[in-house]
Amino acid sequence: MATTTEDVRLVSEGETETFAFQAEINQLLSLIINTFYSNKEIFLRELISNASDALDKIRFESLTDKSKLDGQPELFIHIIPDKAANTLTIVDSGIGMTKADLVNNLGTIARSGTKDFMEALTQGAGDISMIGQFGVGFYSAYLVAERVIVTTKHNDDEQYVWESQAGGSFTVRRDTSGEDIGRGTKIQLHLKEDQLEYVEEKRLKELVKKHSEFISYPISLWTEKTVDREVSDDEEEEEKKDDKAEEGKIEEVDEDEEKEKKEKKKKTVKEVTHEWAQVNKQKPIWLRSPDEITKEEYAAFYKSLSNDWEEHLAVKHFSVEGQLEFKSVLFVPKRAPFDLFDGKKKANNIKLYVRRVFIMDNCEDLIPEYLSFVKGVVDSEDLPLNISREMLQQNKILKVIRKNLVKKCMEMFGEIAENKEDYAKFYESFSKNLKLGIHEDSQNRPKLADLLRYHSTKSGGELTSLKDYVTRMKEGQSDIYYITGESQKAVENSPFLERLKKKGLEVIFMTDAIDEYAVQQLKEYDGKKLVSATKEGLKLEESDEEKAKKEEEKAQFEGLCKVIKDILGDKVEKVVVSDRIVDSPCVLVTGEYGWSANMERIMKAQALKDNAMSGYMSSKKTMEINPSNAIVQELRQRSEADKSDKTVKDLVLLLFETSLLTSGFSLDEPNTFGNRIHRMIKLGLSIDEDAAAEEDDSDLPPLEDAAAEEGSRMEEVD
Ligand code: ADP
Repeated sequence: MATTTEDVRLVSEGETETFAFQAEINQLLSLIINTFYSNKEIFLRELISNASDALDKIRFESLTDKSKLDGQPELFIHIIPDKAANTLTIVDSGIGMTKADLVNNLGTIARSGTKDFMEALTQGAGDISMIGQFGVGFYSAYLVAERVIVTTKHNDDEQYVWESQAGGSFTVRRDTSGEDIGRGTKIQLHLKEDQLEYVEEKRLKELVKKHSEFISYPISLWTEKTVDREVSDDEEEEEKKDDKAEEGKIEEVDEDEEKEKKEKKKKTVKEVTHEWAQVNKQKPIWLRSPDEITKEEYAAFYKSLSNDWEEHLAVKHFSVEGQLEFKSVLFVPKRAPFDLFDGKKKANNIKLYVRRVFIMDNCEDLIPEYLSFVKGVVDSEDLPLNISREMLQQNKILKVIRKNLVKKCMEMFGEIAENKEDYAKFYESFSKNLKLGIHEDSQNRPKLADLLRYHSTKSGGELTSLKDYVTRMKEGQSDIYYITGESQKAVENSPFLERLKKKGLEVIFMTDAIDEYAVQQLKEYDGKKLVSATKEGLKLEESDEEKAKKEEEKAQFEGLCKVIKDILGDKVEKVVVSDRIVDSPCVLVTGEYGWSANMERIMKAQALKDNAMSGYMSSKKTMEINPSNAIVQELRQRSEADKSDKTVKDLVLLLFETSLLTSGFSLDEPNTFGNRIHRMIKLGLSIDEDAAAEEDDSDLPPLEDAAAEEGSRMEEVD
């Protein structure tokens, strides 16, 4: 969505052009400026993180083209407080921005996160410190600054200056000041009157330590020293020359000599010296030994890596040696990001380093999509430094790294599962990812299956694992039973469970849309088949007595089955005597390998109208009737007495439609169904159809005996 500067420019005066902030960004700025919020310090972390990203980008470009660094060979972040001017300046020698970048990135194109972030803020679901996660961190500068000036130089463009005091607009102009920054970006903040703490060295040092310790480029603070020096008149010249070298030296001086000196004329001078002091000195955390690293250090590293404002939930720090060597630290966040399954989103998950040199962010080939919520770093000893994204895709080393990362992730999840509370958090946030994994990763399917948790007919309020299910299986039970549906409410009293419940067999409730996909692939767990309660192929253990009874019923009801099939035509595949219902008159089951009713609902919701799949996958229904149900028994008698009994026909249609609903399908013609029910209601209320018809001005013929003729009326509605 590139905007040309012409589209958005408001005024152009000489060299300076004025642009309006995009409406959402403008709202965001007002929120940032007007919300009472005390934790303003996070602005520095955000600006340093942007600087670090910009440095990553130029370093990556330089791997294949060294000359990209010509404008400024060093890669650094500088922080320069100026007490006299009340400004704080952050300089990086990163990739910089072209004029178009400035206009687009800093004001005219809203990120998808802008709105989400504002919603989170206004609904009290978060605070401003979350800003970095939503991709609008730059604007946090206005927490502390009333005016921001961005000077930037990209290799492909001239040096430009962006400036704004918020207030609806910003300006962009060519930099004609004569100052040459070489390459990169300089962000000058004119601090608000009450934010002068951010020119204090001590405060700045503390902040960098707290939030940006693990940035992998040197961050240097421009520090000021004022020293009093006593200098004798005649020595002054000489001392000045080598005063640096003298600092801290203790000289042994002869006492007499000292006295002599003191007697000479002395003078005190105040000396102000400046120097760069590097603030982040830690070596990369992944190179250190895990048992020397505190939880706080991991948390600080995780936060700087992920922009998360909360600590991680779990960490796995390991190295792989042997044929191939790499070190890695992986983290699981406490909750899912707001855009976890947003396809457009740029995942910022695993950072790839080669021998300590950052190579790239969000390297998709390092970790499968379903694990995209895992954050971390990988530092390889074997990959070539000048590797490109394209080369990575086919790289064998990378494939091995990937395999190891997935394995370690599984271990890490297993470790989380040892703590119930943590696992509940984890599962709430990432169960969809695990299920996606079941669907996609055949190799790790068994491990992923161990991590699944479900409610079931026997789990009480808790979630149960498949492993625990297996321990509760009844003697002779060889399958694991499950039912899929829209919600727990919808499945727990489903007619499909009647027999299973009666036999004391546990049934797992799968109520996530993605369960339908996952279970199609899972098929079995621990050698036990997963069997759907709503599909064909459900075979329950039976005693000889039960078998004999069933055979008898089958024979008895064969006639009725045939009558029903004739009435329903191709609405159903077949009609059979049921095994699975106890109370309900009938249910509609689907083919073992086709879509369940729930799947059909999901597919319809996805509007896959002309999808070829829906033709042959969509549910072929089998009607199962319950021989012990009074309605069914009565129907059998009536149909045996008179094969073409109209009432039988209409009641069968009504039963069919009702069981569509109770079996989880939707009605194609809800009006027809409604009309049938209304007639039943009228019958129940003994309302005279004649009177009703007159009032309605309906042209239906009058009926002599509503009850007897009910059927034919229903037919007309059909
Ligand atoms: P995010 O960094 O999360 O994308 P920001 O609002 O912080 O969101 O920044 C918006 C964009 O502005 C960045 O994506 C980047 O393209 C650009 N940008 C910000 N700061 C810098 C910088 N120091 N150097 C180069 N580009 C920058």
